Amino acid sequence: MEIVPVPQLSDNYAYLLIDGETGDAAVVDCAEAAPVLDEVRRRGVRLVAVLATHHHFDHVGGNPDLLRALPGLRVHGSADDAPRIPGITHRVRDGDPVEVGRLRARVILIPAHTSGHVAYYFPTERAVFTGDTLFAGGCGRLFEGDAAQMMASLAKLAALPDDTRVYCGHEYTEKNLRFAATLEPGNRALRDKLAAVEELRRGGRPTVPSTIADEKATNPFLRTDSPELAASVRHRRPEVAANDRVALFAAVRQLKDRF
Ligand code: ZN
Ligand code: FE
Repeated sequence: MEIVPVPQLSDNYAYLLIDGETGDAAVVDCAEAAPVLDEVRRRGVRLVAVLATHHHFDHVGGNPDLLRALPGLRVHGSADDAPRIPGITHRVRDGDPVEVGRLRARVILIPAHTSGHVAYYFPTERAVFTGDTLFAGGCGRLFEGDAAQMMASLAKLAALPDDTRVYCGHEYTEKNLRFAATLEPGNRALRDKLAAVEELRRGGRPTVPSTIADEKATNPFLRTDSPELAASVRHRRPEVAANDRVALFAAVRQLKDRF
């Protein structure tokens, strides 16, 4: 499977997924149809499906234009979000298979940023598309869920194989890791990753994909078991009990909201 990030709006990514064997392609999250259709034409592939992670405008706003250009397009989206996803034709639930040519994805329900948020996981390709739930170095805001629900959703993703590539919905990595470094200044993996990410961004290059291993080593929202992180949070929020992981996670989220 070839995976092509297509920049959208100011800091979103759509991803064009291409099955090299059949020439079939899908797009994960489309805010603007034109750049996606340009890429499809340039590569001479056949766009057959949209895989929407969640209903926010910057992830599905391009669907109507895509459908005008390609009326037979399948539009996959969470059954729980169905009325809010323009053009939806296939309502998916946790564990459902999704096909793109000969490629197979599995839907993973990961609510909290929105109540019906899903990820698309391609086990044979070692790739997962995480929308606005798991970012490189961060996680989405809690618009339609709480801290415990987000922790459970992130834990599902963290349980994927370490070498799984993580393709997220926004280029937020540099700012995420700067925040992370305020909580874990002693985390060597984090310092190294931040340096690598700063270098990429100086060159105007994308920081995606990350990997599950990288996220477990650097992402503060997957590191509530780090003693250094817990101490940093409790220094700022003394009311957080030492053994309360959910309160700790919620405090990290609040600190990030203000960063
Ligand atoms: Zn969103
Ligand atoms: Fe978004």
